[in-house]
Amino acid sequence: MDQSNAIWIKDPLTILADGAERGVVVQNGKIVELVPAGHLPTTVNTKIYEARDHAVLPGLINTHHHFFQTLTRALPAALDRELFSWLQALYPIWARVTPEALNLAVTVAMSELLLSGCTTTTDHHYLFPTGIEDAVDIEVAVAKRLGLRVLLTRGSMNRSQRDGGLPPDSVVQDEDTILADSERVVTKFHERGEDAMVQIALAPCSPFSVTTSLMRATAVLADRLDVRMHTHLGETEDENRYCVQIYGCRPLDYLEQCGWLNARTWLAHGVHFNAQEIRRLGRAKTSISHCSCSNQLLASGCCPICDMEDAGVAIGLGVDGSASNDCSNLMQEVRSAFLLQRARYGVGRVSHKDALRWATKGSAACVGRPELGEISVGKAADLAFFKLDELRFSGHGDPLAALVLCGAHRADRVMVGGNWVVIDGAIPGLDVSDLVRRHSAAARTMQGQ
Ligand SMILES: [Zn+2]
Repeated sequence: MDQSNAIWIKDPLTILADGAERGVVVQNGKIVELVPAGHLPTTVNTKIYEARDHAVLPGLINTHHHFFQTLTRALPAALDRELFSWLQALYPIWARVTPEALNLAVTVAMSELLLSGCTTTTDHHYLFPTGIEDAVDIEVAVAKRLGLRVLLTRGSMNRSQRDGGLPPDSVVQDEDTILADSERVVTKFHERGEDAMVQIALAPCSPFSVTTSLMRATAVLADRLDVRMHTHLGETEDENRYCVQIYGCRPLDYLEQCGWLNARTWLAHGVHFNAQEIRRLGRAKTSISHCSCSNQLLASGCCPICDMEDAGVAIGLGVDGSASNDCSNLMQEVRSAFLLQRARYGVGRVSHKDALRWATKGSAACVGRPELGEISVGKAADLAFFKLDELRFSGHGDPLAALVLCGAHRADRVMVGGNWVVIDGAIPGLDVSDLVRRHSAAARTMQGQ
């Protein structure tokens, strides 16, 4: 067999894997060999990449985001608000998004993610005002251009203020339009199998912006098309009150009534589930995207993720939208989740390795991609390489702990499916200055400045 396209990632400074002290061999998009201390690869004729200056991690996986929100970071009108009033301040501005602005927003968000060591991301795009019907098509094109692996969701909102929901009429669509377009984008873009680079899931936005009819119809459609489902749930106490008032039950009961409490579903947030609800999530194999920065910024609360893991719930990390973080840096999210959860559970329960596990293997399980998120034979060659030569690392001992404790924020190299997509801290072919200039101009226009 021709092994000439194999690369030996040789002698890393440290690597998040057992029995790979001398590195790994990647070939045809997969990890084909771990090289233990004192050994050479058995794979012959490999190219060599010297990694002695790099801490090597499985590529980080982002399980929740809204790329379009990069256009409204730190917006004065939305500062210092909790979720419901924050959304009401932002909806009218988001309604002005154009295809050109979305293209720039997606490019910015994906670039930020890649440069932070992310190799797979989801996006929850639920904003389809007139003129932006091809939002998912735009996102797929940017992902392919940048080489990032994606699980994009066809989001939706159809309960406006007129029907007792939170969003204005200008940002909702009708159920038939949503379902037809959901089927269109799954048919057009969804890839199956372990090597899939583009996948699609269906994602009604939240109990306060979507009708029960659409929730139920989406579950039926996702089952028929065999794709995953995603939504926000358990984010705030306001949401609990809304569900009790409108639906006569708590959010998780409502989810179950809609046919969503199953292994196809991953939920963003899950901050306010009680002990009995956490056990039900575990039994149903419904997973949770923990968005610690967002939960802190909007003062939503602290998701009890160790209790959830004890109950068998898969936990991943998500940066959430760039208007509630306000950045898309997944490595910084690892540090944030580590600090928040350690404050809740104590030093004996939460370590830096737990936080790294949530962002890799945990996130892979959360979004139903077990072939990702781990450095072992047969897994995808999705890897993040960090140097520890910045001022912030000077004097460090344990390099893996230093990544989290000293605040690593920028990958030096990133590999997705065996291809280099970040080299020397930059995305090949991307003019960042020009992107920032054009994205900032689009944001100012949208904000009416
Ligand atoms: Zn969100």
